[in-house]
Amino acid sequence: MAGEPQSDCLFCKIVAREVPATIVRETETTLAFRDINPQAPTHVLVIPKVHYPDAASLAAAEPGITADVLHEAGEVAADDKVDGSGYRVVFNTGSGAGQTVWHAHAHVLGGRGLEWPPG
Ligand code: AMP
Ligand code: ZN
Repeated sequence: MAGEPQSDCLFCKIVAREVPATIVRETETTLAFRDINPQAPTHVLVIPKVHYPDAASLAAAEPGITADVLHEAGEVAADDKVDGSGYRVVFNTGSGAGQTVWHAHAHVLGGRGLEWPPG
């Protein structure tokens, strides 16, 4: 069923505490943890606890939880004190854009200069 945990999904396993992660924030609907291969001093992933393969399918099914993810992205930035200098929230969508984990997630990147346009 849509949104149900997937046994082959790494991020569902992190939600279930079957795979360890450095968790920085948790709400009823979201989890935020540090990326294992950080691309910036602050690189945190904010995920919905429910499983959807990407941000658009999450937004179509669960607009409230999508808003929760974006709200938590802002809280992560404030916690890491990168909100003043600026930060970026990225949803890679599709393999051509670099998506490798098929559970919706926001990357929160900050703490260094961020080029525009991104690569
Ligand atoms: P994406 O390439 O946009 O799908 O992002 C997936 C992200 O998950 C990458 O930045 C990976 O470094 C990160 N990642 C993969 N495995 C783990 C893990 N076990 N804990 C934390 N982050 C992970
Ligand atoms: Zn999942």
